Amino acid sequence: MDVRRNSHWLKEAIAPGEEDCPSLIGDISADVCIVGGGYTGLWSAIQLKQQEPSLDVVVIEKDVCGAGASGRNGGFVLSWWAKFLSLEKICGGEEAVRLAAASAESVDAIGEFCAEEGIDAHYKRDGWLWAATNDSQVDAWNGTAEAAARYQQYPFERWEPGEVGARSGSTRHQAGIFEPTAASVQPAALARGLRQAALARGVKIFENTPMAKLTGRAKSEVTTPKGRIKAAKVILALNAWGVRFAPIHRAIMVASSDIVITDAMPERLEEMGWRDGMTISDGRMLVHYYRTTRDGRIAFGKGGINGRWPYGGKIGTKLDGPTQIADSVLSWLQWTYPELGQVRSADSWMGPIDRSKTGLPYFGALEGQPNTFYAVGYSGNGVGPCHVGGKILASLALEKKDEWANCGLVRPLGRDFPPEPIRYFGGKLVRRAIAATDAAADANRAPGPLTRYLAGFAPAGLSPFKGQKT
Ligand SMILES: Cc1cc2nc3c(=O)[nH]c(=O)nc-3n(C[C@H](O)[C@H](O)[C@H](O)COP(=O)(O)OP(=O)(O)OC[C@H]3O[C@@H](n4cnc5c(N)ncnc54)[C@H](O)[C@@H]3O)c2cc1C
Repeated sequence: MDVRRNSHWLKEAIAPGEEDCPSLIGDISADVCIVGGGYTGLWSAIQLKQQEPSLDVVVIEKDVCGAGASGRNGGFVLSWWAKFLSLEKICGGEEAVRLAAASAESVDAIGEFCAEEGIDAHYKRDGWLWAATNDSQVDAWNGTAEAAARYQQYPFERWEPGEVGARSGSTRHQAGIFEPTAASVQPAALARGLRQAALARGVKIFENTPMAKLTGRAKSEVTTPKGRIKAAKVILALNAWGVRFAPIHRAIMVASSDIVITDAMPERLEEMGWRDGMTISDGRMLVHYYRTTRDGRIAFGKGGINGRWPYGGKIGTKLDGPTQIADSVLSWLQWTYPELGQVRSADSWMGPIDRSKTGLPYFGALEGQPNTFYAVGYSGNGVGPCHVGGKILASLALEKKDEWANCGLVRPLGRDFPPEPIRYFGGKLVRRAIAATDAAADANRAPGPLTRYLAGFAPAGLSPFKGQKT
């Protein structure tokens, strides 16, 4: 599959005939070898070069930079404030406030970086609406906003229901709160821009170069089909693809996310009142997330439903290319915006999500391999947080003893999900129960006790849903 087909965004961001970076042929050495050319890998590379320009940094990417989730996502640049309850539980209140604030600063820093580097990533800082599209979702945000308020933090604005409907262009939005510190981007344009920025700083990037094997403890060796890299430090920036590594396998489960994008219809958006780049998601367990684009399209995504779950660590091409549930995702867009009438899906795609139990990522060094670092479990909120991740990984690789290397999300990988085959078959049951719970909420009825019990195993959502165990 040509990775350029992986999303509308990639088709737009990679010019026809644009050359890939060379693939690795032969043996080389590096101070730091980063595996994975998405936001995590590229921000880490940029951070490392900014902090130590003489460092020899290599990135290898199995496809081209941005071919993973970084070139296919919804483009919501969010902070960690919506995940404050989980953050507080993991890190304690003070550190949770510091990290949530740092993630909000990253939203601005990404915009500033794009402006300084001349990266046209369609960056717009018009905020995020956490909306309710049925009765059961209303006030799902209260616990989070109240927890932040206990630390004198007020990241959300409470909007009157009329304002929510008017500014989002749909009366389906019964209520909501708004976080002004959020932005939207054309995700692949950001990834490709970071690739350029890394190259300009002297990072060596090898595309179409998959890591086949990782060996060594004190000094590592990364083997690729036609070469080897001896590196003092290795950063695994593999997102969901990290699931094939035994220690990472138990810390995440891979879910799908599917997006459709409409034709351009700027006049209709204007008529509906959805006039800015505000991003919106609802409070269901299988989240709906939607935003407009610079040329007046709607991109609408749905989490977790397409059933293409990999068995074991084998993602392969299962989650690449157009989604087979485009009609269903499109019908949810029409349900959310009944005012729109008939719209067409101009394109669709899907991608893997690395869901951790708490919805927050793990950072650290692999057990017994102190020079190999991981970042995994962004759980569908990585566009902004990968910038924080880059700082954390750079500090770890540079052996700094600073607030990033010692931050509360640097922790051993959890063993939160069962091994196969329980994971696969149990996961299917849980997913069915989650879908049934969402359907019951839409119909304004309570789910049955078995459904409730099974849905209780769901990992944390993009934002906390009612009854979520943090
Ligand atoms: C459909 C979808 C919608 C999403 N929407 C949003 C959103 O709106 N907002 C948000 O914040 N987050 C969203 N996310 C999540 C977000 O995209 C990710 O958290 C983020 O891109 C993670 O970046 P990364 O660099 O860690 O991973 P990736 O961008 O996935 O990078 C990992 C890279 O590793 C490469 N790789 C894999 N195996 C190997 C190997 N063996 N050797 C070399 N390279 C390898 C892959 O090709 C890939 O390019 C979404 C994700 C998806 C899939």
